[in-house]
Order: sequence, then structure tokens, then C-alpha cells
Amino acid sequence: MPTPEPPKQRQNVLGGFKLTLEHLGRPPVTRQYPEEKRPKQPRQHGRHVLNRYEDGMEKCIGCELCAGVCPADCIYVRGLDNPPDHPVSPGERYGYVYEINFLRCIHCDLCVEACPTEAITESKLMEFSFTNRNDAIYTKEELLVDDDGRPRRLAWEDWRDSDDLHTSGWMRATSPSGAAAFEGEVQWSGELGFGVRTPEGGQSGRRDDAATGSLPLRQTLERHLRPIDMPADKRGPRGALGRMLEKLDRFSPGAGARHKEQSESAYDASLLAGDSSGRRPSGESGESGESGEVDR
Ligand code: SF4
Ligand code: SF4
Repeated sequence: MPTPEPPKQRQNVLGGFKLTLEHLGRPPVTRQYPEEKRPKQPRQHGRHVLNRYEDGMEKCIGCELCAGVCPADCIYVRGLDNPPDHPVSPGERYGYVYEINFLRCIHCDLCVEACPTEAITESKLMEFSFTNRNDAIYTKEELLVDDDGRPRRLAWEDWRDSDDLHTSGWMRATSPSGAAAFEGEVQWSGELGFGVRTPEGGQSGRRDDAATGSLPLRQTLERHLRPIDMPADKRGPRGALGRMLEKLDRFSPGAGARHKEQSESAYDASLLAGDSSGRRPSGESGESGESGEVDR
């Protein structure tokens, strides 16, 4: 006689089947990489680049602050005095040796935060291919942007059309002291080939997707999310209507933007009220002030 299953175990098995069946009805989120690539997110952290000023001078002054702050101890910098007759950087010194060990790097961007001259930023290039440990150490030759200000196209990187457009974009994660009041304030110098970069969207809804060439993650994965993961205004027919209006916005400026603004205000308000389901709390007007800034 087989021993009957304990009720809890049976419940777990049925729960597993239920979850599988639920997922069968949802559209897949997997893509056939590398044939098909997802749009890159505004704050995707890829490999680093060393930037130049608009006149072609290197921004790195060899101060080693990035190496000092790196928690993985993967940056090695040596500075050297600038030759007086042909200076490499506008400072007294320049980065003579610059190496990053990508076997150690955790892409935390603390080096980017620490750099006083915005010399080091992270690109959105994320293909790495090493056959030995030495190849994982990128030298200045690989990291420094080209004469046109674009990252060097390394042989193993899979670049698609326009991959280089937003690839050395500003990747600083926070505003000074983390203050939301500084969001959108340009506090960096121009870059060779790009000039002064447009600020990226911060932690509020004020994203600039046109500037970064990216779609918000929520928009990319929306169809796969469960209703509870989505703000009420983005679900079902109302969400579909909003998406349609946003598309129509190109022909009738204002309609989609108004819907988006209303949806985001409602979402911010619901989060402020601690409602993770995104339902608008009763009595809330949907206004989102500075304190309503949330990361999406
Ligand atoms: S991203 Fe983080 S781990 Fe990588 S080099 Fe910079 S500080 Fe180090
Ligand atoms: S990248 Fe920035 S922090 Fe690092 S050595 Fe150069 S100037 Fe200093």
C-alpha cells in the first residue's frame, strides 16, 4: 500500500502546477539573444569608457580617486606629469596607465561617482568575452574613446545599428547628496563628439527617453507583469487606451502626455500611501510632489 501524501505536500505540488499554468497564458519575456536584443535601459551599466573633452583632451587627471573608492579593487591607475609642450589633459597630470579588471568589476559605478572630472563613465555595451584572465583586464587603449568621441569598437563586442549612439552616456547614478532638487541639473562638461549631454531621467517620472534612446523597463515588461505588479492606471483596457494615446501623441500632441501624467501621479500617490498594488488611495488627488519621487 503506498503511503498517502501529507496534505501540505499535495498543496505544494498543486501550487506548483497552478503557477506553471498561470505562466503558460502569459506572453514570453525571453528573447532569442544574440539574434534579438532588448532595448537598453537608461541606466544600464555596461563596460567603462574614458572620455575626452570637446577639444580632444583626455578628462582623466590620474588622481586615482576611482581606484581608491572601488570596492572590488579592480582599477589600477598611475598618473604622470603632463608634458609641458603637448599636454594630454588640462590638469597638471594625466592618467598614464589605466586598467580595469572586468573579472572583478561589479558595475556599481562608485568610480563614476568619485571621478572629479567625469572622465570615467559606464557605457551600455555589455558583451564581454575572455579566453584568459589577462584579456579581462581592459587597458587605457581599449577604454579611451576614439578620436570622434565614441567608444572603441572591440572585436568581440556585438554592436547593432545605433548601439553607439547612447553608449557613452552619462551614467552617474545620483545627484549631489542624493537631493532630488538637483535632478535634471547639468553639472558636467561637454564630451568630444557629443557636447554637453542631456541629463538622464532621475528617480521621478521625468524621464527623457528620447535623450537616452531607451524605453522604461516597466513599458518593456508590462505585458508580462501580474495585475498586482502594475499601477491600476496601467492595467487592462485603461492601460491599453493610455498606450494608444501615447502613440497618437505624435499626431495630436498633448493627449498622450496628459494621460501619462495622470497615470503617474496616481501611481506615485498610491506608493506614498504604502499601497503596493498601485490602487489610488481614497481621498487622494493624485498630485505627486517632490516627495513622491519613486524609482521605476
Ligand atoms: S563599477 Fe564599481 S567595481 Fe567596477 S570599477 Fe567602478 S567602482 Fe570598481
Ligand atoms: S578616471 Fe577620474 S577618478 Fe579616476 S584617475 Fe582619472 S580623473 Fe581620477
